[in-house]
Amino acid sequence: MIRLTEIKLPLDHGDDAIEQAILTKLAIDKSQLQSFNVFKRGYDARKKTAILLIYTLDIEVANEAQLLAQFAKDQHVKPAPDTRYKFVAHAPSNIQERPVVIGFGPCGLFAGLVLAQMGFKPIILERGKEVRERTKDTFGFWRKRTLNTESNVQFGEGGAGTFSDGKLYSQVKDPKHYGRKVITEFVAAGAPEEIMYVSKPHIGTFKLVTMIEKMRARIVELGGEIRFSTRVDDILLENGQVTGLKLSTGEQLNTQHVVLAVGHSARDTFKMVYDKGIYVEAKPFSVGFRIEHKQSMIDECRFGPNAGNPILGAADYKLVHHCENGRTVYSFCMCPGGTVVAATSEEGRVVTNGMSQYSRNERNANSAIVVGISPDEDYPGHPLAGIDLQRKLEEQAYAIGGSNYDAPAQLIGDFLKGKDSSTLGDVKPSYTPGIKLTDLAKTLPSFAIDAIREAIPAFNKQIRGFSSNDGLLTGVETRTSSPICIKRDKSMQSINTQGLYPAGEGAGYAGGILSAGIDGIKAAEALALSMIEKNS
Ligand code: FAD
Repeated sequence: MIRLTEIKLPLDHGDDAIEQAILTKLAIDKSQLQSFNVFKRGYDARKKTAILLIYTLDIEVANEAQLLAQFAKDQHVKPAPDTRYKFVAHAPSNIQERPVVIGFGPCGLFAGLVLAQMGFKPIILERGKEVRERTKDTFGFWRKRTLNTESNVQFGEGGAGTFSDGKLYSQVKDPKHYGRKVITEFVAAGAPEEIMYVSKPHIGTFKLVTMIEKMRARIVELGGEIRFSTRVDDILLENGQVTGLKLSTGEQLNTQHVVLAVGHSARDTFKMVYDKGIYVEAKPFSVGFRIEHKQSMIDECRFGPNAGNPILGAADYKLVHHCENGRTVYSFCMCPGGTVVAATSEEGRVVTNGMSQYSRNERNANSAIVVGISPDEDYPGHPLAGIDLQRKLEEQAYAIGGSNYDAPAQLIGDFLKGKDSSTLGDVKPSYTPGIKLTDLAKTLPSFAIDAIREAIPAFNKQIRGFSSNDGLLTGVETRTSSPICIKRDKSMQSINTQGLYPAGEGAGYAGGILSAGIDGIKAAEALALSMIEKNS
């Protein structure tokens, strides 16, 4: 198979245009082209009146070797890499021990799935509930302000990304094409086929719910077991080796192989891990607000007369600004046509995040606008100090919001001028249960406020209207990534605890659904190889 890259066609190209572009590029006759497949489709919207679609195409031709030789110097004509997933191991028939995966977010889901596919019959422990029950609890909180601290946006089947935009792209290096495995499994579980080829795939929250149920059924079919409402409260160790786990059900589970995939909000679990002497260090993360604008404004600015074109969908953006005070402000987890969501897992705290449906057709665009912070400068002295800072900011936001889970919010114009907001403009807040207009400067350290005040007008140079008075800021966004790293070595095990595989976002090795899934696959592979070695 030959891979052609950078095939550019106009946005409104006709049905035959791709085939014609292949024939022209390779200077071949139609009879020589056996088949072709779109591997990726992106777009270049720099010229709004002439947006281009950019294709990566895999093609089969009769005379492949000859064509590859003929185009040897053309970097856009190469053999297509084999991106199919290959299992590194299969469980020996005499293996007795069952590996355990803690957490059933994307990392635990893929660790569990791949272990099950290799025949290891994993036991997966998840503190939250099955996804349908969890959905009721989460929407219950958004509508009625009743928080279930074990079943919410952060905790439960599917993990933190279940009520999300379901964006599936990542900037992690992926030479072994694990990302393709993640996407392929999602499609097999019912995700739209287009996620295989669009450059910025997304699934949206409702589809994710049914996909996760199907993937759970597959794991169970393969001999795996998933226990919900089962929190791991203790990791048992002997001479630096994991020997078992104590569960919130009172049970003890003996195992020497554990994937720890608990996500970035498992603060009690982080403390337990630290107290056990498992090596943990503080890591940088970011804090800020959610910003909301009308989606139509973002579409118009990014796509001009092509706004609303179904191939382009609702427009997104990615913005970065380096501030005079040395801080960097950037947009994060942008959700086109979505809603801002209440994302706390702890009582008396307010945290924002964003989600969308597959259609991305809500009236507002939202994104986190956050400032990078680091242990050295901002929370020195203790590996868990970042968690203390997150809690402090979330508690402040809760109090300023009125101590009823309303989030503090402010019009962009007022925030830039440093004055309290009292009435909304034409951007209606999407956050539920509600917002309280106030002065957001009280919710974050002054360096962060200064940095965001400098960045928003700078972003306005790229997206006209970004700093308009009526846009809305809602806070606080504190759970952008894990505040700790549970350090692991090349074998993927904790640097001082054998048999423990810290993985995914909580351990500091992923940021987002795709990269967490990829990390779960890597952890499963490393664990499987170690189990086989010990068994032989
Ligand atoms: P998690 O998904 O956090 O899963 C960890 C699981 O472990 C949880 O289910 C938790 O209940 C469980 N757990 C914790 N402690 C224990 C314990 N002691 N015992 C048993 N179980 C435990 N990313 C994207 O790529 N695209 C998006 O569009 C996107 N949108 C998001 C929207 C929202 C509202 C949120 C909150 C996050 C979003 N993210 C998005 C981020 C993404 O969800 C995370 O990066 C990803 O889920 C991390 O996967 P994980 O498996 O490492 O951890």
